[in-house]
Amino acid sequence: MRWNVKRYHTLDYEMKQTFGQKIIKLSLDGGFTCPNRDGLISDKGCIFCSEMGTGEFAGRRNLSITEQIAQQKQMLSTKWPSGKYIAYFQNFTNTYAPVEKLQELYLEALSATDIVGLAIATRPDCLPPKVLDLLGNLAETNYLWVELGLQTIHKSSATFIRRGYDLDCFIDTVNRLKERNIRVVVHLILGLPGESIEDMIETVKFIGNLGVWGVKLHLLHILRDTDLYEYYRLNPFPLLSREQYISIVCDALELLPPAVVVHRVTGDGAKYLLEAPKWSLDKLRVLSGIDKELARRDSCQGSRYHEASIM
Ligand code: SF4
Repeated sequence: MRWNVKRYHTLDYEMKQTFGQKIIKLSLDGGFTCPNRDGLISDKGCIFCSEMGTGEFAGRRNLSITEQIAQQKQMLSTKWPSGKYIAYFQNFTNTYAPVEKLQELYLEALSATDIVGLAIATRPDCLPPKVLDLLGNLAETNYLWVELGLQTIHKSSATFIRRGYDLDCFIDTVNRLKERNIRVVVHLILGLPGESIEDMIETVKFIGNLGVWGVKLHLLHILRDTDLYEYYRLNPFPLLSREQYISIVCDALELLPPAVVVHRVTGDGAKYLLEAPKWSLDKLRVLSGIDKELARRDSCQGSRYHEASIM
């Protein structure tokens, strides 16, 4: 099976099928904080979280959403002089505010010229019924997806990364979003310390069976402004090699259902902060390595999904 030239169901393919053209994401900073950093759940945050709340490429938070959209369009105009856009609320927890405030921000984004949809990154423990209803209402007339950072299904890893919510909370929220016809995208990290390849694949299979719309696969990055960096300095642990990572991603793609939209197959940390693995800086080599490995296996996304569905 092919999705244009790729052997997996890319977001680019999905957007072109839906909108008939290239769709560009604009990363926005809605001025939120995070309950896992401001003391409500914890004051430490996830161990890999940077000062920017994992959104190094987003617009500047001192600008309005309308101004950030204009600024981001301008920044991307050399590559894409014109186009249609998804407004992506990326930094921190983008549903962590009173519902009236959220509605105002989301509607401001949706009313900007050439914005065709909304992507909202958040935590599953930060979607109370009122917010779910707001998102459900918006999803009735707008293209919308919600991103949840699960990273792993394994309890010991979740404790290590200080995720701050359990798997039941995640499953419950995914079901509530699905009940309201809201697309769900799940972030997973490959290469967490202490996880075997089997552990990572178990997480992928679990997500494949959950009926989510999309997945983002990230390589574990050690970024210098994070607690993970301090931990890694004191307790160096083995990191995935490029070859290992490519092989695990290909296994993951084979096990995911063909309908799942793959938003990302590599991480995208800020280059100036990256301590390791340095090979990940050559993103094109990783992407072409994945293409080559799938071709070598003569396989594609979903080719082994039956193995995952009998878990
Ligand atoms: S949920 Fe996101 S913003 Fe909050 S601490 Fe974790 S990575 Fe950072």
